[in-house]
Parts: sequence; C-alpha cells; structure tokens
Amino acid sequence: MKVITLIPGDGIGPEITEAVKKIFAAANVPVTWEEENAGQTTFESKGELIPQSLIDSLEKTRVGLKGPITTPVGKGFKSINVQLRQKFDLYQNVRPACTTPGITTKFEGVDLVLFRENTEGLYSGLETYDARLGIADSINRITVKGCEKITRAAFAYARKHGRKKVTVVHKANILKMAGTLILEAGKKAQQEFPEIEMDDKIIDNMCMQLVAKPEQFDVVVTSNLFGDILSDLCAGLVGGLGVVAGANIGDDMAIFEAVHGSAPDIAGKGLANPTALLRSAIMMLHHIELHDHASKITNALNKTLLNKEQCTGDLGGKAKTMEFADYIIGNL
Ligand code: NAD
Repeated sequence: MKVITLIPGDGIGPEITEAVKKIFAAANVPVTWEEENAGQTTFESKGELIPQSLIDSLEKTRVGLKGPITTPVGKGFKSINVQLRQKFDLYQNVRPACTTPGITTKFEGVDLVLFRENTEGLYSGLETYDARLGIADSINRITVKGCEKITRAAFAYARKHGRKKVTVVHKANILKMAGTLILEAGKKAQQEFPEIEMDDKIIDNMCMQLVAKPEQFDVVVTSNLFGDILSDLCAGLVGGLGVVAGANIGDDMAIFEAVHGSAPDIAGKGLANPTALLRSAIMMLHHIELHDHASKITNALNKTLLNKEQCTGDLGGKAKTMEFADYIIGNL
C-alpha cells in the first residue's frame, strides 16, 4: 500500500476530496491516505497555517493530493499553494488540457500540456510598497537555472509521451532581460532533444492563437504568471475549471491538485464538479506507476461524462457532487 498525503483544503476542497476517496476505494486502488490540512481553517484549530505535521508527512510520502486553499486578496498570509511549491522546489506545474467526448465546448481537437514555471517570477514574494510615494514594486525574479529546469522538463515530457513540438511563451520583446531567459533556455534544451520541434510565441499573440486555433499547440512552456493565466484560459477551451487537472512536480516530490480554486460561491452546496481533482488523482496514479488503476478510473469517468444528466451543473447536468461520484463508481 502506498501512503499518500491528502490535503483536503477548504471551500469546495473537502467535498471533492471525499468524492475522489470514495471512487478510489470502490476501484480498490492500493493507497492509504494520511490526512493533513493547511490554510485558515488549520490556523484556527492548530495555530499554524502550514503545520509541521503536514511538512513531515510530505517529506515521508513524497506524494500529495491537494484540494484548493483560499488565499486572502490584497492582505493576509502568502498563498499556501505558493509556499508549498517553493518550499519543496516543485518547479514544474503541469496542466493538461484535452477535449473530452461528452463535454460540450466551442473547440474541438484540443490536446495540449502546459508547463508553468512554479517558483519564480512575479510569485517570488519580493514586493515593497512606499506609502509616502505611493509606489509598489514587485520583483519579477527569473533565474537561468529556473528557466533551464522548466524548459528541459517540458522537452523531456514531450519525448516521453511521443509529442512533437514545444512552444516557448515569453515577453522577450519588452522584458529584454527577465523575458529573454526562458527563450534562451528553450533553445538550449531543444539541442538535447533534436527530434522535438520548438517554436516560440509572445504571450499576447499566444492568447489570441489559443482562442482562434488551439489545436495547433502540443506542449507549451512558460513562466509563472503567464502560465497561471494561460492555464485558466486553456481550461475554458476544454470545458472549464471543473474538469482540468494539474500537478506540481519537483525532482523527488509531487503534489497533485486541480487548476481551480476553492470556489467560495458554491462551497458546501454539493454543486462542485470533482472531475478536476479526480483527473489530478489519475495523474498521481500514473506518477506512482499504478497505470491499470488509472486507466480503469479514466474509462469510468469518460463513460459517465457522455451522459450529461449524470454530470454536475457546470457540465449541464443535474447531479450533485456525490451523485456524480456514484455514477462513476457504477461505471467502474
Ligand atoms: P475559483 O477557481 O475558485 O472559481 C472560479 C469560478 O469557477 C467560480 O465561479 C467557481 O464556482 C467555478 N469553479 C471552480 N471550481 C469548480 C468546480 N470544481 N466545479 C464547478 N465550478 C467550479 O477561482 P477564484 O474564485 O478566483 O478563487 C477563489 C479562491 O481560491 C481564492 O482565494 C484563490 O486564491 C484560491 N485559489 C486557490 C488555488 C489552489 O489552491 N491551488 C488555485 C486558484 C485559486
């Protein structure tokens, strides 16, 4: 039995993690959960935002499944998500976006994987505010090492999964230093993977290309802020935030989590779609080499998605979170 650290999170987090646990149990997945939480609710009960027991658990299991955690806007503590990614150097944020039969969208044939650098750039936490002058500075710290690691990871993924092209997304026309490093790193990585084609796009053009002709993209790699925005855009291409998975991957640890946040507008109402977290959990199963279990759950999920009535409201159905999970279990 592989032990996994389970972080339910808050908002819709506990509802969707319950659904995933139930599906895993029904599919006889040989994992056990070590449950630890973080964020405001944990602070209220334990006096710590990220308790030591969570750090200890992740250091032991090296694999986590995480629900979303609320971050206060404009004030309060630094994002728990960002802190965990930086603490464990989970420098790859991997987010597949793929058209799925049964999920109605404006686009067809989307099948791309977005690699977002996860620890640097405008998320470095290097911010100052001079109240007297009314000037705020956020430092967009980019390192050669960080760019080389993320671009290399994107090419290595392309080779491993038989993909043909990596697109490097940047703003090197304006940010002549911080914006150029990822482009240079991409060119260097490509020399190591000569069978993979590389092209590059400036971020603004990339947004237009993605909503005009998304099927032209294969693997995409970019910096932290651009990747954060592009991943929600890509989610919109394939059915919305309720259906897209994500993984934070380092050299010896990985935490799997949906792209979406804690959705306070629907929390506690049984309306949340657990597909995004379930797909993240399926990525986790591939990561720990439980490929057969991953395929079995994928097939049951895909079969359920074909029947709109059995899906949650965001996909046009009427099912509550747990009812949808039960339909998936019925299709296992
Ligand atoms: P959000 O992703 O929580 O919600 C955006 C919209 O999508 C909402 O209308 C919501 O109802 C809907 N939605 C999201 N997930 C859904 C699901 N599974 N099923 C159905 N509908 C779903 O984004 P937000 O409102 O900008 O952020 C809310 C909070 O989440 C903020 O505090 C933010 O910092 C946090 N957040 C956390 C993470 C994370 O933990 N990794 C990621 C993004 C945002």
